[in-house]
Amino acid sequence: MNNTISDIKITKCQSSKINEVDFENLVFGNIFTDHMLLCDYKDGVWQQPEIVPYAPFLMDPSSKVFHYGQAIFEGMKAYKDAHDDIWLFRPDQNFDRFNKSATRLAMPEVPEEVFIGGLKQLIQLEKDWVKHGNGSALYIRPFMIATGHGVIAAPSTEYRFMIILSPAKSYYSGEVKVIIAEHFSRAANGGIGAAKAAGNYSGQFYPTKLANEEGFQQIIWTDDATHTKLEEAGTMNVFFRINDVLYTAPTSERILDGVTRKSVIDLAKREGIQVEVRSVLVDELVQAAKDGSLKEIFGAGTAAVINPIAGFSYKGEYFELPKMENSFAQEIKTKLTGIQTKELEDTF
Ligand code: PMP
Repeated sequence: MNNTISDIKITKCQSSKINEVDFENLVFGNIFTDHMLLCDYKDGVWQQPEIVPYAPFLMDPSSKVFHYGQAIFEGMKAYKDAHDDIWLFRPDQNFDRFNKSATRLAMPEVPEEVFIGGLKQLIQLEKDWVKHGNGSALYIRPFMIATGHGVIAAPSTEYRFMIILSPAKSYYSGEVKVIIAEHFSRAANGGIGAAKAAGNYSGQFYPTKLANEEGFQQIIWTDDATHTKLEEAGTMNVFFRINDVLYTAPTSERILDGVTRKSVIDLAKREGIQVEVRSVLVDELVQAAKDGSLKEIFGAGTAAVINPIAGFSYKGEYFELPKMENSFAQEIKTKLTGIQTKELEDTF
């Protein structure tokens, strides 16, 4: 791409929808701001990026994304500090991961000036949509789809990269009970589990629906080969506190390298918490729940930041977790959100 970021063409909407939005009662990911960014790839080059009014667009029914799921995305947040400045939390990590996902799905890498530069311009335009206060943020959804036409099962030669923005409140999914996967898997060695590929999520819907019917909100995914190692919780990385040690699985081909996960590991260590990055076995967890050494389980991800888990089920037996006064989950969440909103200094 020969363009620089100053080449972004901006077409503003006629009138903003912002006054129609009830910012106190937002449902996560349901409302989008006035504008979106798009950039097409064709003839082997990225075209000029554009910011246009948020609106549906036409696609050929044979577009490869509809048939072969060539689609990737990212999830990140922007926060507003007390001085009305807007901050992105470690966007370089999302940018890197996006292009790793692109490579795994045989899609072209998106240039930094489009992803990061375009995002900054879009957010600048939508800055009134980022609200102050407890947990308020702008959820950012960059994504890329295969727009090339024809139902032959081969990578597309045309793609569309887009960024859409959704105002969000603090995300609390209530008391989360999870079930440990004994049969289904979200990823396999050699597969696409480490990519933020759309298909990873559609593949989770059916087992999660079955879990919901049994009264569980999420699944703790285990390794596909043996179902003995604990890997992720729903669409989050997962942490276990046994006695006063915090454990999380190492990233692998099956696990998404979460931005929040990395921040939690760094922050916990800085707070003097002993962290061990190693696989925790299902048997170990059950044993720890039985002997009382299992204190906490929590998920970590951009949307919820930290999501405590109330209990887990395995082979038909339910294990309730103790109610913790000074939980690691709460301590880490307070610190991390403080850093994200710039109330606390980011020193790591
Ligand atoms: N695992 C999966 C499968 C996810 O979809 C996400 C959300 N992106 C995460 C972990 C957490 O990653 P992050 O902290 O970068 O949001």
